[in-house]
Amino acid sequence: MDIKTITLDGQVLFCPTKKQWEQLFKNPYIESKEIALIDFMKSRIEMSFLYPEVNYFLAEYTPKNKFHFYSLLKINNEFIRVHFENVICENCNKRAYISATPSTKDSYILLSPEEKTKAKEKALKYPNLICKHCGEQYHRRYTIWQTYELKNLL
Ligand SMILES: [Zn+2]
Repeated sequence: MDIKTITLDGQVLFCPTKKQWEQLFKNPYIESKEIALIDFMKSRIEMSFLYPEVNYFLAEYTPKNKFHFYSLLKINNEFIRVHFENVICENCNKRAYISATPSTKDSYILLSPEEKTKAKEKALKYPNLICKHCGEQYHRRYTIWQTYELKNLL
């Protein structure tokens, strides 16, 4: 399978297309290396087909010969390392449905300390959003992107 790659924050990421993901769900191997946790990730990857901003890519995890998942927000033509979640506003207790935070450690796993710092700085250029239900700023979770559509709850 000829999967496109990009280099982001000094790391090579494999970027399967929708069609390639559908093949990988059936046979989760790239060059005989296993894609760990693909069953667990499947519904999230399927959700990503609905939003161009939401992307799941893979990086080789060399010592174990496996692939590790990264979730990336595509915004202003750049990829930002995030965790996609369904943030709950601490002011009004309503949810943002799908939201993106750059504040979780998993996004930076396997990066060098320097690349990690640069990647975080790139994410923090984006402002922490306000809740669209009540207009207050999120404080518990730095949130740089959110949808207000009910069609796909995480
Ligand atoms: Zn709120």
